[in-house]
Amino acid sequence: MEKVVIIGPGPAGWTAALYTARAQLAPLVLTGKQPGGLLTTTSIVENFPGFPEGVDGYELMTRMQKQAERFGAKTSFGVVEAVDFSTDPKVLTVDGEKVEAETVIIATGASHKHLSVPGEHELETKGTTYCATCDGALPVFRNQPLVVVGGGDSACEEALYLTRFGSVVYLVHRRDKLRASKIMADRVHAHKTIKPIWDSAVTEILDVKQDKVTAVKLKNLKTGEESVLPCAGVFIAIGHVPNTDLFKGQIHRDENGFIEPQSGSMATNVPGVFVAGDCADHVYRQAVTAAGMGCAAAIEAERYLAARNE
Ligand code: NAP
Repeated sequence: MEKVVIIGPGPAGWTAALYTARAQLAPLVLTGKQPGGLLTTTSIVENFPGFPEGVDGYELMTRMQKQAERFGAKTSFGVVEAVDFSTDPKVLTVDGEKVEAETVIIATGASHKHLSVPGEHELETKGTTYCATCDGALPVFRNQPLVVVGGGDSACEEALYLTRFGSVVYLVHRRDKLRASKIMADRVHAHKTIKPIWDSAVTEILDVKQDKVTAVKLKNLKTGEESVLPCAGVFIAIGHVPNTDLFKGQIHRDENGFIEPQSGSMATNVPGVFVAGDCADHVYRQAVTAAGMGCAAAIEAERYLAARNE
């Protein structure tokens, strides 16, 4: 039986692994099919403290993994197919095999919602991105027209952040009113560099042939009119989907699927099951905040085990 099983290979999971490994709990980290998580899809991470020149997302995750393994964390590329938290120990089905665990730390992250339009997938990291904080400062976007898609707080935050870099920031929203909180919407409306384009959908990102973003195709959803808007970057901010379907019926999730930790802790409603990172965070969603949550979850798991064994 494992003392600690960590599900998820991002900054939350590896930090939880580092702390529980150093507590000599020999955690088992189940990475699933995308070791490193969302960060590995980003180019350069410039906002993780300690890397003044920035660090490649994949490299950062590999370093975190090595650091945790140095202290005894065990890595498995297994995919968790089912969990049963009703028993003690908890039982996970991993690639058809049963794994028993005294504690589980869920760090399965979140996935960006995609527009699912032509060019989006092909031009990802070539001008199409899902994180202004991660990619906005790249030289390719400096003093260029940029497009943000969405009408929520995320889209407003991305648009405001990008005003530091872009010559103009077009905020393309499918309705005629922002869904964002009033304070964010007011800031967007007051900013001279942000130009909202209402009632419009991006129907294609150009130009796959040139292997970089040069423009978006727009459709006005009221008039049906189509147009082409030149830009150097497209920032898609239409929400996130937490990767928590696996835990449906096993653990409390909010109406959007985020796992809700108990107030002031990383414990879930199931004793011995903890949560960390983007699957429990719809506000900050940064590598460094996920890492911090991973640390907190690890310390709580360690204390839970100590109390149990007393
Ligand atoms: P959100 O509130 O769900 O907004 C998503 C936006 O994307 C909506 O405007 C939606 O349009 C649009 N959208 C969704 N699917 C689309 C599609 N396929 N094509 C085009 N547009 C699409 O998501 P969010 O902005 O990521 O915010 C999530 C939560 O985090 C919210 O509770 C928010 O308050 C919070 N948050 C807070 C902060 C902050 O406080 N600073 C920052 C970021 C996020 P419709 O309006 O038509 O539905």
